[in-house]
Amino acid sequence: MSNHQAVRTPADTSMPGWYGILPPPKAPEVLRGRHRADWLIVGAGFAGLAAARRLSQLVPNERIVLVDAQRVGWGAAGRNSGFMIDLPHELGSENYGGSQDHDRKRIRMNRAAIEFSASAADEYGLQRFFVRAGKFHGAATDHGLAVLRDFENHLTGLAEPFERLDGPQLKQITGTDFFIGGTFTPGTVMAQPAGFIRGLAEGLSSRVQLFENSPVTSVTTGKLHTVKTPEGEISAPRLILTVNGHLESFGFFKKRLLHVFTYASMTRSLSKREQAVLGGAPQWGLIPADPMGSTLRRIDDRIVVRNTFTYNPDMSTSDKQIRRIGASHDRSYRARFPMLGEIPLEFRWGGHLCLSLNSAPAFGEVEERVFVAGCCNGLGTVQGTLYGMLAADLAARSNEPMLADALNEPAPVRLYPEPIMSIGAPLKLWAMHRRAGREL
Ligand SMILES: Cc1cc2nc3c(=O)[nH]c(=O)nc-3n(C[C@H](O)[C@H](O)[C@H](O)COP(=O)(O)OP(=O)(O)OC[C@H]3O[C@@H](n4cnc5c(N)ncnc54)[C@H](O)[C@@H]3O)c2cc1C
Repeated sequence: MSNHQAVRTPADTSMPGWYGILPPPKAPEVLRGRHRADWLIVGAGFAGLAAARRLSQLVPNERIVLVDAQRVGWGAAGRNSGFMIDLPHELGSENYGGSQDHDRKRIRMNRAAIEFSASAADEYGLQRFFVRAGKFHGAATDHGLAVLRDFENHLTGLAEPFERLDGPQLKQITGTDFFIGGTFTPGTVMAQPAGFIRGLAEGLSSRVQLFENSPVTSVTTGKLHTVKTPEGEISAPRLILTVNGHLESFGFFKKRLLHVFTYASMTRSLSKREQAVLGGAPQWGLIPADPMGSTLRRIDDRIVVRNTFTYNPDMSTSDKQIRRIGASHDRSYRARFPMLGEIPLEFRWGGHLCLSLNSAPAFGEVEERVFVAGCCNGLGTVQGTLYGMLAADLAARSNEPMLADALNEPAPVRLYPEPIMSIGAPLKLWAMHRRAGREL
């Protein structure tokens, strides 16, 4: 038996645009009093909801409970840019790629996770939040173009399809002539992340009991594991922790997880006339040629800009930091869409990414019948789904063939000692942002 006191619980500030444009959610059910479940999942992001859905298929008659510190869709799961990417996407590399063998396995597993999400989207009628649109990569500089050529060569080696686009072709899609060339890959799903994640939770509600605004402050493991929240507690023989970087808040993977934030802003709704001035297609998503550049999305009447990574080992950002980085969003937005003039960016937000130095997830059985799935290295919409689903398979002792691959992956390696991390990580990020130049 061991006790894990949470040294912090999540408190995301600032309204993410994806959440703000949805109708307000129903009042939350908060965990109060004592409960007993057969299966307990903590963390209702992509990983937690995937674990819950998988368990509801594997053990349909047992009591499954899911608990989150915040509202569903308020955490990183509803703050991201919504690219559910099937291909390799190493944020720390120069061209998003890794080694070919590793990437083939990655693609196979990513696609399985996307299909798992697609079946949920079909079952719960979430197709408007889950669109098989593919993704564009856009280069604004010769360096960016060279990175994309390198990426295309990597895709050719993997026998993966892509389409090369020149600047005018990209303008037809995006309305801007900012990009001099690009690459289109077809397998990405574009999600409205908060809409999709909220829809998943609602779809599961007849089989999974959800408690929101119920931060877990301690986990005591034993024959029955017990988690405590400010107003209640719940015990279960099997526990799945899908709290992403907050695994470390409970003492798991200490000094192995890298806590990084990234930021986004969304315009107010564009009028019909403004949309006509912008031109291009009504829905698209574009990833910068340089991983440190600006990601863009258009969803009918709004544009979303995401850029800038900061190192936040205390797992929180501040309104001041969000405002400061908002200025960088304004610059990127104006440089790409000068034809729109001064359209205000209505929503600004930041969110927590968990990375590891070797891009490995935090996955497995960490104590007897305590399972974890987290740290999905910036591709959590897909890999969170994948490892969440596999955590349920592992917990239910299923014979899912992908489990062996997942269990054979390396664990997150140790971070460098202090003060190397606190000095080195911001410096490295600064140098990488600088290298991105106009792509930012
Ligand atoms: C601006 C931005 C853009 C991004 N863009 C993309 C993208 O385009 N594609 C992509 O794949 N990824 C993207 N990401 C990353 C992606 O959002 C994450 O990787 C993903 O959300 C991870 O899913 P998860 O379920 O593992 O964790 P999370 O989504 O972080 O969910 C963990 C949940 O655990 C809860 N929790 C934590 N501690 C406790 C506790 N003590 N008690 C109860 N609950 C707790 C949290 O409230 C949270 O809801 C982006 C992230 C940001 C911030």
